[in-house]
Amino acid sequence: MSRIVYVNGEYLPEEEAKVSIFDRGFLMADGVYEVTSVLAGKLIDFAGHAERLARSLGELDMAMPMSADELLAIHRELVAKNAIDEGMVYLQITRGNPGDRDFAFPPADTKPTVVLFTQSKPGLAANPVAKVGIKVISIPDIRWGRRDIKTVQLLYPSMAKMAAKKAHVDDAWFVEDGMVTEGTSNNVYIVKGGKIITRHLGNDILHGITRAAVLRFAREAQMEVEERPFTIDEAQAADEAFFTSASAFVMPVVEIDGKPVGTGKPGSVAARLREIYLDESLKAAV
Ligand code: PMP
Repeated sequence: MSRIVYVNGEYLPEEEAKVSIFDRGFLMADGVYEVTSVLAGKLIDFAGHAERLARSLGELDMAMPMSADELLAIHRELVAKNAIDEGMVYLQITRGNPGDRDFAFPPADTKPTVVLFTQSKPGLAANPVAKVGIKVISIPDIRWGRRDIKTVQLLYPSMAKMAAKKAHVDDAWFVEDGMVTEGTSNNVYIVKGGKIITRHLGNDILHGITRAAVLRFAREAQMEVEERPFTIDEAQAADEAFFTSASAFVMPVVEIDGKPVGTGKPGSVAARLREIYLDESLKAAV
């Protein structure tokens, strides 16, 4: 069965959905996106994603094309139309179709392109990978300087994923000036002596919605949190490591550049945070 997707006001079978070849998203990667998880047919942390979307658009001088409530209604409609129980809703907004190719931004009244689609991922919450953890390599971070804006410029993260595959591991951690920034599509953490350490927010990493929630839950559970950069050496010598993202929640990292982290098995802090995150997020899902 083909998916029903949303394009500029219409719900259509995926084969009928079309975007212009002149779209700024296609020609210039001039667009932003969000991915919201669905558990038990409900949206996880929708308000956080809507807020970050508004911020990303604002940083690029683009207007929010509709209210957060209207966006929520479209998300819910797609979840219902596609009978999604566990999975994701992907949303992308570009600067639209100016009718030709030009580096300059088109007039501000050019209609943005708004596309949403669902991805069904049965078993997302019970992902067995969380019980064994993943392995990563490190790779230089050569992305642009505004990684806090969630743009669709994902070529380098895709290349980093391919480098990880080639090295027979699952993901890559970016390193800049000797310090870990983040994963290809996630925020990263180490745990030492019970303390959770993760890079502070800035323009050099995406402000993860899952990161914000997990740090809030950690502090509420009286866990110690320190927001500062760390090196690969420090991560390899840590008791545990993990990453967070909207689609993977909290995921243990058990090996970095061929060296086991701690016992080489998922740690108790990551397991506890995953459990708290899933419980609390489900309770608050809309
Ligand atoms: N950093 C990067 C580079 C990402 O692509 C993502 C996921 N899109 C994240 C961090 C995690 O953000 P979130 O928790 O909002 O999914």
